[in-house]
Order: sequence, then C-alpha cells, then structure tokens
Amino acid sequence: MSATKTDVVVIGAGPGGYVAAIRLGQLGKKAMVIERDKPGGVCLNVGCIPSKALITAAKHYEKIAALGDMGIAVTGRSFDWTKMQSWKDGVVGKLTGGVAQLVKANGGQIVKGEAFVRRAGLVEVNTPEGKQEIETSHVVVATGSRPIDLPGLPFDGQRVIDSSRALSLAEVPRRLAVIGGGYIGLELGFMYRKLGTEVTVVEMLDQVLPGFDDDLAKAVARSLKKKGIETLLASKATGLEKIDGGVRLTVQTPDGARSVECDHVLVTVGRRPNSGGLGLEGCGVAIDAKGFVTVDEQRRTNVPGVWAIGDVAGQPMLAHKAYREAEVAAECIAGHSAAFDVRAIPAVCFTDPEVAVVGLSEREAAQQGRKVKVGKVPFGAVSRAVTNHDVEGYVKVLIDESTREILGAAAVGHEASELIAEAGLAIEMAGFAEDVALTIHAHPTLAEAIKEAAAAAIGEAIHVLNR
Ligand code: FAD
Repeated sequence: MSATKTDVVVIGAGPGGYVAAIRLGQLGKKAMVIERDKPGGVCLNVGCIPSKALITAAKHYEKIAALGDMGIAVTGRSFDWTKMQSWKDGVVGKLTGGVAQLVKANGGQIVKGEAFVRRAGLVEVNTPEGKQEIETSHVVVATGSRPIDLPGLPFDGQRVIDSSRALSLAEVPRRLAVIGGGYIGLELGFMYRKLGTEVTVVEMLDQVLPGFDDDLAKAVARSLKKKGIETLLASKATGLEKIDGGVRLTVQTPDGARSVECDHVLVTVGRRPNSGGLGLEGCGVAIDAKGFVTVDEQRRTNVPGVWAIGDVAGQPMLAHKAYREAEVAAECIAGHSAAFDVRAIPAVCFTDPEVAVVGLSEREAAQQGRKVKVGKVPFGAVSRAVTNHDVEGYVKVLIDESTREILGAAAVGHEASELIAEAGLAIEMAGFAEDVALTIHAHPTLAEAIKEAAAAAIGEAIHVLNR
C-alpha cells in the first residue's frame, strides 16, 4: 500500500475539524480531513443546527396563538411534521454543503473513511474503497463525542432514544419522557411540548439546568410548569418495561416510586469523548479519567505532532469552543504564535425562555468569596421587549465591587442567545461597567438591556430604579 502525503491529517469534520482545515488552508497548509460520517459533525447534522431549526419552527407554531393580542386573527392552526422535518433537513443540507465547499476552496479535502492513528505521522484510513495510508507531519484529533446511555436503559433507537434520534422521529410522540434536565433534554422537551407532546422530565439533581444560577434555572422551571411539562426533580429512572404502544418507566422520586408511561424515553444525561479505538493510546497520547485527550494551551497533546480540539479535548462541549481551539491549533501548526487563552466562553440554552451566560456566575462569585455587584434589568422595562410582546425575563451584569470590571453576565428571555455576545466582548476586552453603560445603543433594541444592566450595576440605570 503506497502512502499518500499531506501536511496535516484532521480526524473528524465537525466544528473543530472543518474549521481547522479551513484555517490551515488560509495559512498555506494542505489538510486532509477524514470523516467517517457526514461533513459538519454532530453540530450540523444532529446537534446545534437541526435542533434549532425545529425549535424555531415549534416556536412559530406556538406564537400563532398569541397573535390575537396584537389584533391578528388566525383561524385554525396546524403543522405538517413531515414538511417540518424536510425543512430542517434542507437547512442541514445547505450548511453541511457549505462546509464541504469551504474546505475545498481553502485547498483542503474531505475523505470519507474511519481513521486510525498508527503512529504520530502515519494515519490509516478505512475508506469504502479499501485501506489507505497517509503520511503527515501533524494529526489533529477532532473526533467529538457521543451520547452516554444509562445502565439498564440502553439506546435501542425505538423506545429508548438519544438526541440524534429525537430529531428525526417519524411522528411527533404523544408522550415523551426526558431523562436529564440539562440543556439538550430541555430544548427538545420544550420543542415537542409546543407541538402537543405530553412531556415529563426526570432530573437526578434538585434543579433543572444544573450548574446554572438558581434564578436562571427557576425561570426555566416556571416555564416548564406553565407549559404543562411535568418535572420530577431529585428523581432517578430505575426501570423500564414494554407496554402496549410504548414503555413504562419507573422513577424513584422523593415522594416514592412513580411510573411514567410514554412512547419514547429520551436519554440526555451527558456526552462522552470519542477518544477510544483511534490508536491514541498505542501512540502514548495521554487521556484523562473521563476520556478527554489531555492538551496544552496550543492544543498539543503530549506526543509531538498530535493535537486535539473540540469535544474530545475537554469541556465545555460546545461548538464555539471547538471553533476557537481549531484556529489556535491551525495557527500553531503553521508556525504562528497562538494560544487558547480566552477569558470567557458563553453558553446558551435554547429553552423557552432562552438562557445565556458568559463569565463568572453569581454562584461562582459567592463560592470564590468575590465581592461583586449585580445590575439587573427586567425585559418589562425594555421598550423593544414590550413592542415584541415578549417581556418575560431579564438581563444581569456582574461587576467587581471595587474595580467595576465586568466579570460576568446572564440573560433569560427572548433573544438572550443574541444578547450575550456583547457581554462576552466586554469581558474579553477587560471592560468596565462604564464601557458598556456609556456606549450608545440603538433604540429601541433588546441590546439596550445589556447597557441598562451595566448602568444598574453602578447605580446609574435610567429605565429601572437603582437599588
Ligand atoms: P463533532 O461535531 O462530534 O464531530 C466529530 C466528527 O468526527 C464526527 O463527524 C464523527 O463522525 C467524526 N469521527 C469520529 N471518530 C472518527 C474516526 N475515527 N474517523 C473518522 N471520523 C471520525 N453546541 C453549541 O455550541 N450550541 C448548541 O446549540 C448546541 N446544541 C446541541 C444540540 C444537540 C442535540 C447536541 C447533541 C449537541 C449540541 N451542541 C451544541 C454541541 C456541539 O454539537 C458539539 O460541541 C460540537 O459538535 C463539537 O464539535 P467537534 O468538532 O468537537 O465534534
């Protein structure tokens, strides 16, 4: 078998892998991306993109009911799930097609196959046409992650399903049990509820969205209740039996055992890095106890010429974290000086209401004993939110009590996902409350909420009372 040669082999064409290939191309390096499935990885095919497409469609469908308040009469309301699915697939197709084109336009190549690292510098690929060997100076491992299943509740793709399957069910389920009250489970739970599914969420801890500030999680918990989603907190799924037309899930709750009958059980209890079976151990690449490849600031592993980025290289498992790591690794491979040296990584839950956070949370500030001030502005005081007929939620900005540096921010409500970027920029630029408060924001916009919250943190808000 004669070996092909390339500057860099990237394993995986998800947000980590394809961005690395594009950046490498921009810097004059030829990248060969090996992908066993589809270009775009989890994010574009079975993650961020299809979930948000369906969430948006379900949101529009739900919103029709509220249009009457604005004087818009809509008689009859219905949806076509098959069309909704093909629209979602169209969105995925457009974006994954764009990824393949961009890699190619930057001099890279996506090869379909399963990669195995024989040693640093030599990658074996099982392609549909047979085995191929690739000699290279650098290997970038961007193999992502996969859903974790629960002991006793293995995924069967029919009744016990993972998030990928939940995005392409043939029918909208009548009843859905979601195990895991993190962002993935709740996003899908809200989406199906809007389309009429009876949803029950089972969460082992005593709050949904564990890890988020209590007030943010409570806002989502209130909405779950309002929308008729039952939430069983401090509860554990312990058994499953098949019944006519579905399954019966046994759940241990603080009030005793409960059974939940449903068409499908969606298990969203976390994801596990794809670091095994790739040959990494054989090459001596260090992998931690949780299965993450250990990397330094440049995203180098302990083995020269082997790099790792994205979900496989550690938390947070988010596409935008993978993007940045990909740029850093590509730049270092091309001989530039770069490091993954970020002050804050935003995180968004596309729940209803949306929750978005960046930087230090109030909980973390308390744990660290930091003296902070919090400026909070409810959307009810933001004129654009009122005109949007969407006043639920608020924005809060956390500043250091003495220096007034912005340390963190959170938003809960309509378009929270869009608002958080400004706070991220402020933190990255080591900005102070005044930097945001003195910046003129266009009126009327939701972004004014960030400005007002920064002003509120220093007692200078105009449209809310300063406390
Ligand atoms: P992946 O996207 O997992 O890509 C890895 C690729 O490597 C895969 O295509 C895989 O087939 C390939 N691969 C693995 N092993 C091999 C091998 N041996 N040979 C060849 N190819 C291989 N993140 C956000 O930031 N925002 C969101 O809104 C969001 N929503 C999500 C919703 C859901 C339902 C899910 C499941 C995830 C969501 N995520 C979201 C997380 C996001 O999808 C991941 O963080 C992101 O995809 C990680 O990118 P990656 O490149 O590291 O890996």
